[in-house]
Amino acid sequence: MKQFRNNVIRAGLEALYFSGAHHLLRPLLSGIGAIFMLHQVRPPREAEFQPNRHLEVAPEFLRATLRHLRSRDIDIISMDELHERLIQSNFGRRFAAFTLDDGYRDNLDHALPVLRGFEAPSTIYVASDFAEGTGRLWWIALEAVIAKADHIDVEIGNSAARLDATTPAAKQAAFDRLHDWLRALPSEHDLQREVEALCARHDVDATAPCRELCLSWDELKRLADDPLVTIGAHSMSHCNLARQREEIAAKEIAGSRVRIEKALQRPVLHLAYPYGNRIAAGEREFALASASGFKTAVTTRPGMIFAESAERLTALPRVSLNGNYQHTRILPVLTSGAATAMWNGFRRIAAA
Ligand SMILES: [Zn+2]
Repeated sequence: MKQFRNNVIRAGLEALYFSGAHHLLRPLLSGIGAIFMLHQVRPPREAEFQPNRHLEVAPEFLRATLRHLRSRDIDIISMDELHERLIQSNFGRRFAAFTLDDGYRDNLDHALPVLRGFEAPSTIYVASDFAEGTGRLWWIALEAVIAKADHIDVEIGNSAARLDATTPAAKQAAFDRLHDWLRALPSEHDLQREVEALCARHDVDATAPCRELCLSWDELKRLADDPLVTIGAHSMSHCNLARQREEIAAKEIAGSRVRIEKALQRPVLHLAYPYGNRIAAGEREFALASASGFKTAVTTRPGMIFAESAERLTALPRVSLNGNYQHTRILPVLTSGAATAMWNGFRRIAAA
């Protein structure tokens, strides 16, 4: 299913590019700006099995994106500035903001040097448990389990299954099946329990990805001193907020803010919802983010920013810089808004 969707997106992007249709769509759809979403930024890896590749872009692609925006005279602004322009209806110039989710160390090593070269501000959304070193990046632990296994024995919905993992294609299929199953489990607790059981059976340390990949508080303190960097919140445990009872969701949102402010000694005014899609963040979460005092909150729903977004400051859509589509020819398509409009069925703020 995921592969099917990727193919549809790829075909759609290519069709838009080759038909030149994005030029015709631009005045209608380009909006006034865009918030770009990234996760990891690092040099490409060789391994054939990279099920999380959509969450990684190469520094070179980030550089190409920045160059493209500069060549079109688009302002690159912080989330504070974006908030300011939206509430003041200051739409004289088009703008883009760069956001990076989860708080990966490679943001410091690979993304920031590129962003600094363009004097481009960015916002890094930190899940406080990740900075603490106690978080669970279960999708990366799952990749590690399948990478080293020949097969995976698992009980899915009361029936035992043995998933082949002998080839890269089989590993990808096993990952997709397990990923979909895990995301559909009733609670976050169930998900973590199953991932931990898989890790234990395959001798993978479920806590290692957090310590290896995520910025520590000390590193974040240094980063926060950079005037080009804003640190935002991304919940405490990186759970699916919409699946939690309201008190828990509220605590995840407000608690991460308190924890990060305490560690970094500066206000945290911007939020990104973990997962951030329709299933993970809805009206209740948008209201909780407002009630917790966040100036803005971003989803992962695709879309450009329009004047109307000022009414939906805690439900802002973004444009994903997706590791599966790192080709400079898609950049005009992405900034035209045509790609995200296609995804949204040509709704505007209905992105939210
Ligand atoms: Zn995240």
